[in-house]
Amino acid sequence: MEKIILRWVTSCLGLLTVGVCVCLYFFPSLKETMTAEPEIDLILETVVEVPVQQSPGDVVKDEDEAQKYEGKLNIELPEGIDGSNITISNHYLTQTVSVVFEKGVDNYSDNYRVFGSSDYISSVGYYKEGEIGVLEIKLDQVCELSYTYHNGFLCIDFIEPHEIYDKVIVIDAGHGGRAVGAVKKGVCEKDLNLAIVKQIQTLFETADDKSIKVYYTRLDDTNPTLSQRVGLANKAHADLFISIHNNSASSGKFTSRNGTLVLYNQADDSEFSSKRFAEMCLQNVAESAGSNKRGLAKGNYVYIVKNSQVPVALIEVGYMTNLEELEKLQTEEYQKLVAQGVYNAVIQAFEEGY
Ligand SMILES: [Zn+2]
Repeated sequence: MEKIILRWVTSCLGLLTVGVCVCLYFFPSLKETMTAEPEIDLILETVVEVPVQQSPGDVVKDEDEAQKYEGKLNIELPEGIDGSNITISNHYLTQTVSVVFEKGVDNYSDNYRVFGSSDYISSVGYYKEGEIGVLEIKLDQVCELSYTYHNGFLCIDFIEPHEIYDKVIVIDAGHGGRAVGAVKKGVCEKDLNLAIVKQIQTLFETADDKSIKVYYTRLDDTNPTLSQRVGLANKAHADLFISIHNNSASSGKFTSRNGTLVLYNQADDSEFSSKRFAEMCLQNVAESAGSNKRGLAKGNYVYIVKNSQVPVALIEVGYMTNLEELEKLQTEEYQKLVAQGVYNAVIQAFEEGY
């Protein structure tokens, strides 16, 4: 009797395992596309809050000097630190600016001060990591930086991107890292998406018109969370948000189904809507790459589409479950044609007033 029960339990467990494996094999992208992963703060060091003082106190002696600090966040540098041993980096995806001192002090906020404008700044913190000291500035939106050094202070100006550029767009290469997306014949969707995005990057970088700023959610094999991806578009107040993906037939099997499909946010009923922009993406990509126009689809079941506060188009460039299309998608030539189509769609949208 016991043997029978044991055999029965073993068979059930076996079937369950197979079931889960099959599901994961055919729908690996399902969970990634539809749910937002929790954001994990990887900094384990204790971050001590640094108060931002409104008034410069006795630092400023006259009006001339006051101007040098005005409208800026002014960070007092520890002894021995100047422009030569400091690294400033702006991490757009998390809206975090890190000021790294090659030699950090132990208690920054007890001995040094930060004063000035707190526009766009949510918090300032300090932590030590081995020898280096890091002043971490969290912003409430994407900013560009301009900075100077004055009298032992680093003076940073935080600038809203639209003050510098006419237009701002965000481009997202779907999946990445261990989130591979669909896998067909050893080809991972994440790699096709990134290859196309890199071709788009080349087009914008080599264009004569430098009035369009492009922010990318990733340009390497990383996997930003979904809320970081759409957050970059929202917090850059982007004029357009484009996500590049590739499709698979729902069975996961190779079929004749092929072509370009573009998802849009059906809740956006503004004049310059997500749907209208999605239509431009479909037309231009199909025209440039010669792909079959599969059409537009309501995309609110996708987290980044639903949560985009800006006109969004999620382009499913082609079908990885179509042998011919899978071959094409892997060639640089085809990736370039697709990229040109996306680029043309952006230019058309701006010409039409987006
Ligand atoms: Zn995908």
